[in-house]
Amino acid sequence: MNYFSYLCSVNALKGKKAVYLTLGCKLNFAETSTIQQQMEAAGVETARNGEVADICIVNTCSVTEVADSKSRQAISKLHRKHPEAHIVVTGCYAQLHPEKLAALEGVDIVVGKEGLLNNVISLFRNNVITETETRKVQPFVPACARGERTRFFLKVQDGCDYFCTYCTIPFARGRSRNGSIASLVRQAEEAAEQGGKEIVLTGVNTGDFGKTTGERFIDLLQALDRVEGIQRYRISSIEPNLLTEDIIRFCSQSRAFMPHFHIPLQSGSDEVLRLMRRRYDTKFFAEKIDEVRKYIPDAFIGVDVIVGMRGETDEMFAQAYRFMQALPVSQYHVFSYSERPGTKALQIPGKVSPKQKHERSQHILSLSEKKLHTYYNIHKGQTRPVLLEHNRKGGPVHGFTDNYIRVEVSPLRGDLEGSIVQVRLGEWNEKGDALTGETVNSK
Ligand code: SF4
Repeated sequence: MNYFSYLCSVNALKGKKAVYLTLGCKLNFAETSTIQQQMEAAGVETARNGEVADICIVNTCSVTEVADSKSRQAISKLHRKHPEAHIVVTGCYAQLHPEKLAALEGVDIVVGKEGLLNNVISLFRNNVITETETRKVQPFVPACARGERTRFFLKVQDGCDYFCTYCTIPFARGRSRNGSIASLVRQAEEAAEQGGKEIVLTGVNTGDFGKTTGERFIDLLQALDRVEGIQRYRISSIEPNLLTEDIIRFCSQSRAFMPHFHIPLQSGSDEVLRLMRRRYDTKFFAEKIDEVRKYIPDAFIGVDVIVGMRGETDEMFAQAYRFMQALPVSQYHVFSYSERPGTKALQIPGKVSPKQKHERSQHILSLSEKKLHTYYNIHKGQTRPVLLEHNRKGGPVHGFTDNYIRVEVSPLRGDLEGSIVQVRLGEWNEKGDALTGETVNSK
C-alpha cells in the first residue's frame, strides 16, 4: 500500500471497532491474528467484550458439513449481536462456496485473506467492494499468532497438492506454498522477543515445505533450532511420507525440537487407504512409527484417523482396528468421514450409515484412551522438563512435558509460570486428565 492509500485507509477506518471470530484449525487462528494486526495498523480498534462492532471478521472452516454449519451459525449470531456491522467472511468455506455465504443476511464481503484489508477499506470509503478475491491464485500470507502467553503458532506452509479423495482443502487453500527460511526465522526471533518460549509449526501439509522457495524442511528446522530464546518447537502435523529419517534423527539430537510427532494415518486398512488416495500403505506407516521409536523411544506419537469413509466395510474396519491396536503410538484423534461436495470420494460406492460411523468412532476412541493411559502410566516416577503454562485463579498450574504429557504441578512459586522446570511425575489427578507432578531443584 502506498503512503496516500495508507492515509486514506486510516481516515476510512480510524476509530472503527472490529470483532474477530475464527473457526477451525490453528492455521486459521494464526491467520486471523495477522488480519487483526493489519486492521489495527489501519486504525481499527478491537472491540472489547460487550462493545458494539462496526466490522465483524469471520474466518471460516469447511473441513466437514458440521464445520460449514458452525460457520453459518456464527455469522447469523454475529449479525444478531451487531446488526449494523459490516460482516466480512474469509477462510476455507469462503473459498469453496462464496455464493452461499454471500447470500447470508448481514454478509457484505466474502473475500480471500490476501485482499481482505483493501476490501474493508473500499467498503468504508466508497461503499463498494474492489473485487472478490476468493478464486484468485493465492500467495503465501505469513502468520504468527500468540496462543497462550508463551506459545506461538508459526505458519510455515499453506495449501496442498495431494488431493486425497475425501478432502476439500486443496480446493479451498490452493497449491502448496511457503515462506522463506529467512522470513520464518525472523518471525521466530520476533516471537522470542515478545516472550515466546514455544513455537508450534503449522501448515496444511507442513512437511511439503519448500515448493515456493526450493528450500528443504529439514533446513528450516535446523535454522529455527538456532533461534535464541525459543526453548521448544513442535511440528503440528506431518504426512508420514514426508517425515524422513533425516528429520526424525535431527529431532532426536536437536536443542529444541520436542520428542512429539503428530502423523495422519487416516485408515489402518490398505484398501481404504487406496480409496482415499493416500501416499503410503500400512506397512510403510508401521515402519515409520518403528523408525521414530528407534531414534526417540519415549516420543509422544499422536495419530489422526477417519472412520466411515465411503467403501469402508465392516471387515475393512475390523482389519484397520487390529492394525491400530498393534501400533505403538500414544493417542488417536478420530474424525468421522463427512461427505464434501465436489470430492472424488462421492463416486465411491458403499456409503457408511451414521450409526456405523458412530460405533466405529467409539471403538477407536476407547482404543485411544487405553493407549494414552498406558503411555502416561509408563512415565510415572520419571523427572521431565515441564513448561508451566497458566494458573487460573486459585486453580492448579498445568504444563506439558517435552514429550507432551499433561501435568498438574505443585508446589509452585508464582514467578515460575512461563518457565521450564524439572518435574517428577506422580499419579493421575482427580479429573483423570493429567498426571500430578512435583517440582524438583527449581531455584
Ligand atoms: S494431505 Fe490430503 S488430507 Fe491433508 S490437506 Fe492434503 S489433500 Fe487434504
